[in-house]
Amino acid sequence: MPIKPEQLIRPEILALSAYTVPESRGMVKLDAMENPYRLPPDLQAEVGRLSAQAALNRYPDPRAPALKERLRAFFGLQPGTGLMLGNGSDELIQIVALALARPGAVFLSVEPTFVMFRMIATLVGMEYEGVPLKSDFSLDLDATLAAIEGRRPAVVFIAYPNNPTGNLFDRAALIRIIEAAPGLVVIDEAYHAFAGATLLDALERFDHLLVMRTLSKLGLAGLRLGVLMGAPAWLEQLEKVRLPYNVNVLTQAVAETVLGRRDVLLGQAAAICRERERLARALGQRPGVTVYPSQANFLLFRVAQARDVFENLKQRGVLIKNLSGFHPLLAECLRVTVGTPEENERFLAALDASLGAVA
Ligand code: PMP
Repeated sequence: MPIKPEQLIRPEILALSAYTVPESRGMVKLDAMENPYRLPPDLQAEVGRLSAQAALNRYPDPRAPALKERLRAFFGLQPGTGLMLGNGSDELIQIVALALARPGAVFLSVEPTFVMFRMIATLVGMEYEGVPLKSDFSLDLDATLAAIEGRRPAVVFIAYPNNPTGNLFDRAALIRIIEAAPGLVVIDEAYHAFAGATLLDALERFDHLLVMRTLSKLGLAGLRLGVLMGAPAWLEQLEKVRLPYNVNVLTQAVAETVLGRRDVLLGQAAAICRERERLARALGQRPGVTVYPSQANFLLFRVAQARDVFENLKQRGVLIKNLSGFHPLLAECLRVTVGTPEENERFLAALDASLGAVA
């Protein structure tokens, strides 16, 4: 009798569902916090030239010095700060977790937050502790400090701004958490371009703090490039876990060039922020819709019969994210990524029709 996967695969993996990405062909795609704008034609043409010249027969340079220099300049890193590259920041979360995994090691975050924190912790065999946020999605500092004291986590991951709630946590509260943490703390600044606030400046003060960024929300989700920054002593150890060729030749070449066009990347982010404010106002004017403040490139909103509204929007060709059922604090919540003005108009029109249809 051939062995069945169920007999060998770890029970906690058998219990997981794979991260699913819904079919979105032909739809207004506002489900995944992507930047809706393509690169301008001159830069896209330059990307074409780079691809034509790339030595695809060679492995990528695992040190990626030119790209790292660009990233240092782009993020304004201090000379003593280290940085490590990942195939998206997802991979960096996994690298940190793999390095710290041992029986009983705890991965602590808040709930609700980015689902990959729990998923990766579970995959590598760590214990996951999710401290509930308050009902306004702010940090419950007392509960978080108590959990840190009780569980002694090997790592605390906090998204700043948080996904899927969109808010920035109180900086002073985060500093208290960093001060109290007995292990590593990683601040995930995936949405930094839409918020401005950062803990990069705190790296000088704390040797056990790392800050993570990604190019995904800056219009380069398809390239897959994440960056982890902080004390070289930590990054040197984490480098041992990173697979040597995780950032491919094309990604290195294209990212290096595109990062040189700060005006383009930050100009698009600024346009998205303006649209976010317009969309938030428009959503808030809809009867029965509660929209939450966001410092990211998406909006969380609450509406009666959220699941039906979500399905109805889908039938009308608009794909957003249904978060009802993810966490008690997200009951009847939906999340929409800020798109182009035209996409947002199509979303609002479809929403009005959907709200009418399910009422
Ligand atoms: N962190 C947070 C908070 C996110 O929301 C996301 C993407 N949804 C990521 C990290 C992963 O980004 P990427 O792997 O594309 O860099």
